[in-house]
Order: sequence, then C-alpha cells, then structure tokens
Amino acid sequence: MGYVYDDQNIFAKILRGEIPNTTVLETEHCLAFHDIYAQAPEHVLVIPKGPYVCFDHFSNMASAEEIVDFTRAIGQVALALKVDPGNGGDGYRLLANTGKNGVQDVPHLHVHLVAGRPLGRMLRNN
Ligand code: 5GP
Repeated sequence: MGYVYDDQNIFAKILRGEIPNTTVLETEHCLAFHDIYAQAPEHVLVIPKGPYVCFDHFSNMASAEEIVDFTRAIGQVALALKVDPGNGGDGYRLLANTGKNGVQDVPHLHVHLVAGRPLGRMLRNN
C-alpha cells in the first residue's frame, strides 16, 4: 500500500513559507524550528524538506544524502541549544511519533528534541 503524502499538512505549509515558524537551523535538506506548544523549556522539531510521512518512510525511501543531513541536523540542534552532554549540557530526548499508536498528529516526519528539565522515565503506563 505504501504512503501517500498530504501536501496540505501544516509542516508542508511551513516549508513553503505559508505559515511562519521560528527557525533554529536550516540545512539543504532539513528545517528545525520551535514547537508552537512547547512541552519543555526547549522543544524543537526537526523535519526533512522532502515529502516523507514518517520515520520508516524516510529511512527506507530517502537518499543517503538526505539521511545524513537529517541525522546531522538533529545533532547540530543539540549543539545549538547547548544540551549536548559532550559539552557539559544536561541532555535531551528525541521522539518521533508515528501513526495511530504513536499518536502522530502531523503527517510529515518530525523528530521532537525536548530538553531543559528532567524528563522522567521514557514511557508512562497509561
Ligand atoms: P506530533 O503529535 O505529530 O508528534 O506533533 C506535532 C507537533 O507539532 C506538536 O508538538 C505541535 O505542538 C506542533 N505544531 C502543530 N502545529 C504547529 C505550527 O503551526 N507551528 C509549530 N511550530 N508547531 C506546530
């Protein structure tokens, strides 16, 4: 069956400049911007510019160049926010909600980078 990309999703509109965003980092293949409803002192979304619905869509279909760029962009955001433990930062969490059970609201791949406070255990049992 595969994936069908909806180019009317909110992140597609952000990429086309139809909706404003607060950019943290832009690369050839990616955009990182502050989440509008931040759930921690730092909450940044990193998205590829290509039309990928979710992580497995991206990792199976994107070019090696896009994948490298996306991976590096996430690391660059951690550095920009000064949360990388390698430089004394307090750390962060990456999340990629996917599909129905993952409770993905926006059907364009995005990794949440959240930081700035203790984030608790990975999953709550509810
Ligand atoms: P999901 O539940 O799909 O993993 O997360 C979607 C995220 O997008 C949410 O954290 C939500 O706050 C964020 N979001 C939704 N609409 C906008 C918007 O217009 N601008 C920004 N910057 N973030 C948005």
